[in-house]
Amino acid sequence: DVAKEKELREAELLVEKNVLVTTIDKVLNWARGHSFWPVTFGLACCAIEMMATGDSRYDISRFGWEVFRASPRQADLMIVAGTCTRKMAPLLRRIYDQMPEPKWVIAMGSCASAGGPFIDSYAMLPGVDKVVPVDVYIPGCPPRPESLLYGILQLQQKVANPAKVRLMQHGK
Ligand code: SF4
Repeated sequence: DVAKEKELREAELLVEKNVLVTTIDKVLNWARGHSFWPVTFGLACCAIEMMATGDSRYDISRFGWEVFRASPRQADLMIVAGTCTRKMAPLLRRIYDQMPEPKWVIAMGSCASAGGPFIDSYAMLPGVDKVVPVDVYIPGCPPRPESLLYGILQLQQKVANPAKVRLMQHGK
């Protein structure tokens, strides 16, 4: 009868709108976390450790994250590695804006996270989160390649489980 048909249609719509999309999102997020394409953004000494992460000893390609791009339009991860001055800040933001969604930012080292040893300088940005949204902060001066790999693994979890991260942020 008509009422039953309507009920069935409503249930189908519910499944189409929620269950299927959620499942596809899960697969996409799993794939994204295993194939970050970082944009090259080395600014100072921390960048040497970022480059070392790509060598054969630390081998970032084990995780599928080795495709560093020179163009922000081909990247989904910005690893800010080094000292960011106030003069550099607008350029950092412009490069971030040129990256397609979805995109993430890692602040590598104490300079990128909070100004580092140059925090008292008038020229220094006290953390790149003043101009771009940062997903993961990696402490250290400089952090070792293992720390960067660990930081990207944390980001991978964040990308794969956005709901879980939201719950953690709200202390549940
Ligand atoms: Fe250099 Fe230390 Fe700043 Fe990294 S955190 S850019 S190693 S001064």
